[in-house]
Amino acid sequence: MKIIKGIHRYIMLRCIWLYIAKLTIRVVKDPFKVFQILTKMEIARRKYKGNYKLIKLAKVDNRYYWDINIPGYPSIATKSYLEASISRIQPDLIDKNKLSTVIWALTNKCHYNCIHCSEWNTKDSNDALSLNDLKKILNEVQKLGVSQIQFSGGEPLNRIGDIMELLSSARPSTDFWLLTSGCNFTSENAKLLKNAGLTGISISLDHFDPDSHNKYRGSLDAYKWVEEAALNAHREGLVICLAICPTELFISTQNLMNYALLAKKLKASFIRIIEPVAIGHYENKKVELNKFQIKILEDFYLQMNYSAEYIDFPIVSYPGYYQRRIGCFGAGEGYLFIDQEGDLHSCPFCRNSEKMNVVNTPFETQLRLLKERGCQRFKKSVY
Ligand code: SF4
Ligand code: SF4
Repeated sequence: MKIIKGIHRYIMLRCIWLYIAKLTIRVVKDPFKVFQILTKMEIARRKYKGNYKLIKLAKVDNRYYWDINIPGYPSIATKSYLEASISRIQPDLIDKNKLSTVIWALTNKCHYNCIHCSEWNTKDSNDALSLNDLKKILNEVQKLGVSQIQFSGGEPLNRIGDIMELLSSARPSTDFWLLTSGCNFTSENAKLLKNAGLTGISISLDHFDPDSHNKYRGSLDAYKWVEEAALNAHREGLVICLAICPTELFISTQNLMNYALLAKKLKASFIRIIEPVAIGHYENKKVELNKFQIKILEDFYLQMNYSAEYIDFPIVSYPGYYQRRIGCFGAGEGYLFIDQEGDLHSCPFCRNSEKMNVVNTPFETQLRLLKERGCQRFKKSVY
């Protein structure tokens, strides 16, 4: 992993912008509409980023990344991502059912007992779907133009054989990520997955202090596996993200800086901040962050991404930051969650009580239903 800055970053950003413009012309054809779409994209960007401009890119395995949810440039998946963005901005031009990202729980089995586990109520239940069911879902999802699939769980590595099969049978229009605790991400597994087509791994790390992380995870080996997984991923040229669900006890400027220093040491390209939600193991607990804690997180996000002082640090992804400004793209607007039984949900934190299974019912029918219902947790008014 290399952080790209200065003139190199400037040239690459121009190349990416030109590439996006050329792709948009190829997809949309009408120059006036191309102009309209690019203008709308820029307006949306400014709405949540203001005048901030990212001062770095991460280069991994000859691809350039600036946002963890966007496929790295150059790649076939970039075209899929762009088509999904255009379908949101100008639904009359492209099939409006295009999706960017699918978070897909393949299993609920897991060795850990995390204090914030969102799957707590069904953790360790038997795998519900066969490999053929999974392949069928993959095919449907790829038909909708999904540019990024994130395999989650439980611990997805518990189904590594099936993941290998899915990666091998997938079309190249999608990037694949693993959302993992790091447990069992051995050098052998890293090599197998990379060769089968995995793009990156997001490793959950709740604290920079080994003992504290182990305590959050309910396992004495948890921190050791994070370090080992990062090392193995780096060796194989996989993109690395460290994901944190910060508690009110953790949040301080100093702790966040220590976390960023560790992420840099582990060669992570990204840090992802996921705010705690009172579901699963956190159900009925007061875990939502207050405005002072959110301010500390937002300042950290801005400093890491836009301040020259932190140019050599990983890029921070903070969905809460943009959701508070432009709303959420969950519930099928841009992404959705598929649970281990093959039911659609708005996101991992917003589960529909009504079953929307995609194994026996056409995916598009369930997607339409999900979109009509929207996020059940926050209804239409996000945050
Ligand atoms: S949060 Fe993930 S790693 Fe932790 S217990 Fe739940 S499924 Fe396992
Ligand atoms: S709970 Fe709703 S608003 Fe929040 S991330 Fe999920 S879909 Fe979006």
